[in-house]
Amino acid sequence: MSDALTDEAETLSNKAAKKRRRREPPPDPAPLPGLVDAHTHLAACGGRDAGSVRAILDHAQAVGVDQVVTVADDMVDARWAVVAAEWDDRVYAAVALHPMHAGDLNDETAAELEQMVRHPRVVAVGETGLDYYWPGKSDDCASPEVQHETFRWHIDLAKRVGKPLMIHNREADRDLLDVLAAEGAPDTVIMHCFSGDRNVARECVDRGFMLSFAGTVSFANAEELRVAAELVPDELILVETDAPFLTPHPYRGQPNQSYCLPYTARAIAEVRGVSEEEMARLLGANARRAYNIPLP
Ligand SMILES: [Zn+2]
Ligand SMILES: [Zn+2]
Repeated sequence: MSDALTDEAETLSNKAAKKRRRREPPPDPAPLPGLVDAHTHLAACGGRDAGSVRAILDHAQAVGVDQVVTVADDMVDARWAVVAAEWDDRVYAAVALHPMHAGDLNDETAAELEQMVRHPRVVAVGETGLDYYWPGKSDDCASPEVQHETFRWHIDLAKRVGKPLMIHNREADRDLLDVLAAEGAPDTVIMHCFSGDRNVARECVDRGFMLSFAGTVSFANAEELRVAAELVPDELILVETDAPFLTPHPYRGQPNQSYCLPYTARAIAEVRGVSEEEMARLLGANARRAYNIPLP
């Protein structure tokens, strides 16, 4: 084989290896007991029935992730999340219309969501909020105006049922904080996959909002997020996977699941300069308090 052909063959096999790695799940982290995955999407992680949900939770529990909150994006997902929470007592649900699907809110869906939110295994109204990234890029995404209206409805719902409000915020920091201030925030507000800078973090903390950090906090270019993770007081910090997305470093791009949570919890412990055991205990206790869920 000529050198050029060898090079080409090598490039091709590198590409194939990279592709293979992208589909490969990360290895199990060393166990870190006491954790709760504050935000995941079990259906998108391959959960279909009671058996597959149990398998995901068994895997998570083997590395110390005892409980998870599975979050719905739309009505179909919300109905599934409630059933999944009935299948396995380690699973709790959060239901709402994601800002992308904010246009689905009408009299019927509002009544159904309200009924679901009152279910004892539904522990939060979410994810709701504002997403300014997708409008204009995706025809399926609700306009900012529609998102605002649906967000306000969810804020009111959380207050009426007395459950936490779980916020999705993408490139909408200012409007999101303003809408919450104007409407009056519920007692517990969880900024899921916190992605703001230190100023937004401070403003959230000043208002008593909880900041939930995903794998993004471990990414190489996430210095500002690590500053945010350092300045949050003990009682306001949470950890989540947002699986199957946002797999922590060094497995970025590979499939994420709740069992990967210890990687992110360890990254947070390092940023805050505390032992990983202590960090895990705090993160777990905060999630149980925020969602009002018992020890496993
Ligand atoms: Zn989200
Ligand atoms: Zn999510």
